[in-house]
Amino acid sequence: MKILVCLKQVPHSDARLDIAGDGKWIQEDNIKFEINSYDTYALEEALKLKDAGEAEVVAVSIGPDRVTQALRTALGMGADRAIHVNDPAMEGSDSLGIAKVLAAIVKEESPDLVFAGLMSEDGNFAAVPPMVAQLAGLPSSTAVMSVSLADGTVTVERELEGGALEVVQLPTPCLLAVQSGLNQVRYASLKGIMAAKKKPMDTKTAADLGVGDQVGAGAAKVEIEKVYTPPRGEGAQLIEGSADEVATQLVGKIKELGLL
Ligand SMILES: Cc1cc2nc3c(=O)[nH]c(=O)nc-3n(C[C@H](O)[C@H](O)[C@H](O)COP(=O)(O)OP(=O)(O)OC[C@H]3O[C@@H](n4cnc5c(N)ncnc54)[C@H](O)[C@@H]3O)c2cc1C
Repeated sequence: MKILVCLKQVPHSDARLDIAGDGKWIQEDNIKFEINSYDTYALEEALKLKDAGEAEVVAVSIGPDRVTQALRTALGMGADRAIHVNDPAMEGSDSLGIAKVLAAIVKEESPDLVFAGLMSEDGNFAAVPPMVAQLAGLPSSTAVMSVSLADGTVTVERELEGGALEVVQLPTPCLLAVQSGLNQVRYASLKGIMAAKKKPMDTKTAADLGVGDQVGAGAAKVEIEKVYTPPRGEGAQLIEGSADEVATQLVGKIKELGLL
């Protein structure tokens, strides 16, 4: 069995984010990055299937040079090989451009299962996985909370509103976009990190995958007009001070409003 895992590298959750000079994205040159947390759950689910039987796990990521770090982490955790799409022509790609490249890899690799995260923690479109499935002609399921595989059929539990779960069956090959928290993500062991150095990482461009004319700003159908921090709402007050001072002031305000 072959399992492809789509990983996006996103700003570290502790990073202080500043808006870039053109007002269209965040400034990326002064922050640390990590694997999108939803994708770490996707990778863990793939590695669990590998642990339970025979499987090759291939990690795929699109992004600049720094993305090799995310892929090395994935290899250190247990993925067998990695594919890095590193192509300046991808600059300015919208979700469809990203999806076209991932779908081209799916077609080239013919995996039995494709795992992705439900959404990315920076762009937050939650659009790429269903688009990849559509473009690659695969059935798919989103918000996946559990996965079991028997006789070529995948049974998943999907998270619905209000804590309800929906059970869905899909044939393989299929794509699953996972919700966070569906498993306990492992750490890369020291042995794993050492072994990762020898594992193969292919670097490709969109043109190598036959979709060079379908990516980048020129092909994007969505335009980001601006990124900004919303103005503070009227009546909003920022309480400053030590934790004790803030807590005391906050309780005072709540009492003032008659809520306590
Ligand atoms: C006009 C426009 C211009 C843009 N320009 C740039 C740019 O120059 N540089 C830039 O970095 N971004 C750019 N973006 C953002 C980029 O298009 C998004 O990262 C992309 O649309 C994916 O959306 P998302 O990250 O919200 O993914 P979601 O759909 O929320 O992601 C869900 C899942 O898809 C998979 N996935 C998503 N992205 C990747 C990836 N890169 N590699 C592997 N798997 C992935 C992951 O499994 C992820 O958990 C631009 C967006 C627009 C609309």
